[in-house]
Amino acid sequence: MQDILSMKFSELQMAIKELQEPDYRAKQIYHWLHVRKIQEFSQMTDLSSGLKLKLASNFEIKKLVIAKKLESQIDDTVKYLYQLPDGQYIETVLMHYQHGWRICISTQVGCKMGCQFCASTIAGYVRNLTASEMLLQIDETERNANIKISGIVLMGIGEPLDNFQNVTRFLELLSDSKGRKMSLRHVTISTCGIVPKIRELAEKKTGLTLAVSLHQASDSQRNKIMPVNKKYALQELMNACQYYFAMTGRRVTYEYAVMEGENDSFANAQALAKLLKNQQAHVNLIPVNTVKERNYHATRQSAKRFMQYLEKLGVHATVRRTLGNDIQAACGQLRHEINIKNSCLNFTEK
Ligand code: SAH
Repeated sequence: MQDILSMKFSELQMAIKELQEPDYRAKQIYHWLHVRKIQEFSQMTDLSSGLKLKLASNFEIKKLVIAKKLESQIDDTVKYLYQLPDGQYIETVLMHYQHGWRICISTQVGCKMGCQFCASTIAGYVRNLTASEMLLQIDETERNANIKISGIVLMGIGEPLDNFQNVTRFLELLSDSKGRKMSLRHVTISTCGIVPKIRELAEKKTGLTLAVSLHQASDSQRNKIMPVNKKYALQELMNACQYYFAMTGRRVTYEYAVMEGENDSFANAQALAKLLKNQQAHVNLIPVNTVKERNYHATRQSAKRFMQYLEKLGVHATVRRTLGNDIQAACGQLRHEINIKNSCLNFTEK
């Protein structure tokens, strides 16, 4: 069965032709899927029942099921644990900002990147998400929370640039003028630094914001916490970021999770200032979320102290608001926990 929600309009047109149906049908179906966001072929009321049957036997409309929903008691953040059609779990976080609702979506089940401080990597990598599974995180969340999303960040579980084809397909579907019409200026992609894909993305000139997860500004130290650095070292990464800016006119933002005793000294700030000296860079600081299996920790105070170091050195930085602290809104924590629970269940059943 073909995943119809992942199909581009031109692909749907071809498929409809193959079913020996007139061309305008593709337009109707695409509209039902991407504008009306219906979940069953039977809801496509302007199609003949014969065509609806044909569609149902050739295509599937994927669905996500809410396995768990955690609502923060301290702010408006909501975290969803979604179950995918094959039983896997991913996380989506909904956050309220001054200018509306922003959603943080996952792009893979698990992650291969192995960043030491990150929960998403602990249970390992399972598979890439399809474009439809990325779109559905938005649709389901909008339906459930009864809101309209105005910003999207690809900062949930997974490395978006390690699932480049599906992510770019998702972006195309998201911004298609025949469908969802979302401006990619409202989208941010966060990457640990897959250099060739940053360059490829730059060449697409999509207008989206690129956020690069730095967390350390020297190769020897970054190698220790982010294995990707052994493949693409910092200078190469910085060159790719400058290329991104040159191609798109969009300034790259840098993410830096402050970890006490690991990356928060004045010397660390100096190294960071040196690395960013040729750019008018902005650094987002966030006190690291402690993951049970790892030893990293930080307070808001330590993040603020590091921000002051940076400011002294002429680097713009802000300490990001930490939302949903009480509901483990950091990526990967919930999926990881459910995996532990499930493996415990399996254990007791045996
Ligand atoms: N793979 C992508 C996107 C997913 S992670 C990336 O690496 O950018 C989203 C952001 O959360 C990244 O900046 C990541 O480094 C950061 N992050 C991961 N674990 C964290 C933790 N425990 N505390 C704070 N930030 C964390």
